[in-house]
Amino acid sequence: SLRDDEKQHGFARIFGIETEYGVSVTGSNKPCDAATVAMAMFRPVVSRSRSTNTYLSNGARLYLDVGSHPEYATAEARDPLTALAQDLAGERLMRQLALDAQRRLSLECGEGTTVHLFKNNVDSAGHSFGCHENYLVRRFVSLHDVERALLPFLITRQIFSGAGRLSERGLVISQRADYLDESISSATTRERPMVNTRDEPHADPERYRRLHVIIGDSNRSQHAGLMKLATTHLVLCVIEQAARRGVSSGLEACALKDPSSANRAVSRDLQFSGTPLELADAQGFAKAQAEYGEMNSAAAGGGKPCAQAVDALGMQRHYAAVVARFLEDYGTQVREAMPRLDIEAVMREWNDALDRLGTGDFAALENRVDWIAKQSLFEALRRRHPGMPAARFAQLDLDYHDVANGTAYDSLVRHGAMRTIITPSQVHEAMVHAPQDTRAALRGALVSKALQCDARFSCDWTRLTLGTSGQDGERAEAVLIDPFETQPGDDYRRLMSRLGA
Ligand code: ATP
Ligand code: MG
Ligand code: MG
Repeated sequence: SLRDDEKQHGFARIFGIETEYGVSVTGSNKPCDAATVAMAMFRPVVSRSRSTNTYLSNGARLYLDVGSHPEYATAEARDPLTALAQDLAGERLMRQLALDAQRRLSLECGEGTTVHLFKNNVDSAGHSFGCHENYLVRRFVSLHDVERALLPFLITRQIFSGAGRLSERGLVISQRADYLDESISSATTRERPMVNTRDEPHADPERYRRLHVIIGDSNRSQHAGLMKLATTHLVLCVIEQAARRGVSSGLEACALKDPSSANRAVSRDLQFSGTPLELADAQGFAKAQAEYGEMNSAAAGGGKPCAQAVDALGMQRHYAAVVARFLEDYGTQVREAMPRLDIEAVMREWNDALDRLGTGDFAALENRVDWIAKQSLFEALRRRHPGMPAARFAQLDLDYHDVANGTAYDSLVRHGAMRTIITPSQVHEAMVHAPQDTRAALRGALVSKALQCDARFSCDWTRLTLGTSGQDGERAEAVLIDPFETQPGDDYRRLMSRLGA
């Protein structure tokens, strides 16, 4: 069965993004807390689906968990562009729910009532919430491989994917780093690990894992969101292929001595002052680095490996070099498995970002890297209004992430100062239609039919059910265990025919 998988899917992958949003209200003439806003947002959802946890006709999951953070988990996508479009569809839907709630709340709480919906990861009270990336990986990749070979990549990729956050000590690159650190350092409760190891593959557990990445930030920049998924995919291809062949990936020596403090240190080094990362095996890393011919003083000085310090940029350069070498051998297969991903463009953009960061040319990246865009917004504010109080900067930081009533980000887009990749009509399309190349197509079609007929349904990622357990004999189910499967099985056909389709 493993050989089947190889034949069919090679380097194919499933991507899913879960985005949690923060909510708040200003301008109301009555106290109105986040819980009230969140419930108001979900009122139309509950009246339609009788629950705050439901699946949509585009295959996504929409829900309100405890803690008043509405969450949208995209349908399964087979490439980063589709995943990005699905996540933006979620953003758009959440925005509609928020503006709708605002209209209703202003009847009770006054004209000036303004609902804020933050696509970020820390609220003003200092609570942190997530943007989780999900990657299907082959089961033969061990969690030990992930920890050694992938985690250093995830920690250092923030230099181009971090959303930036104004902390007590000023701007930091990552929204999440300071918060993940806290829970990891308390040795017993690993509440917020950087990668969640809970084994819920939502697929055949013999073949697959679902890698559940917690460490990333929510991005406003579409470019950053895309690059985050695309580069991670390529690194995973390297790790998978090495595990498949039982050889070294060239990435094991990247392992960090103390990942959570490294994560925090990278987040705080906005000047790229070369703060060294503490490696678990510095000699091994220098050897791997020399082998991949990267431009460093060890290689320049005759290629003799030495226990040289590496910083976040150097770590990313190593990853980019290993991926480039890997693509020389496997590029064709990687491309065939994911035709919609322009790998040349990803590699070019990745290396370009590292070069610009390395030479201090941050200005070139302000139209695509969130933390740099934010930094230049702050600088502009400081220039225009010297002596502006700190609260105004904090407000601007939040405004950048407010997808309901924020203006800073939209204005950048309008002025051509922020790159976009997905068009508004593609976002609209993704709100209505599931990706057609995963099982989400089947889920989406069933949900949309059930909503049309007002039939009771329930779903999870691998199962579709019509009717409820209360209604004897009325309950029918279809299992969709293979996320790559788009063909309806007999059970699925029976469900659809019950709905008159
Ligand atoms: P919870 O938020 O309830 O703790 P969770 O974080 O494990 O649960 P969901 O919020 O339900 O999961 O989101 C699951 C995400 O994983 C979705 O975006 C979905 O598209 C994606 N997904 C589903 N199946 C797979 C798979 N086999 N491999 C990778 N991703 C998957
Ligand atoms: Mg979730
Ligand atoms: Mg999750």
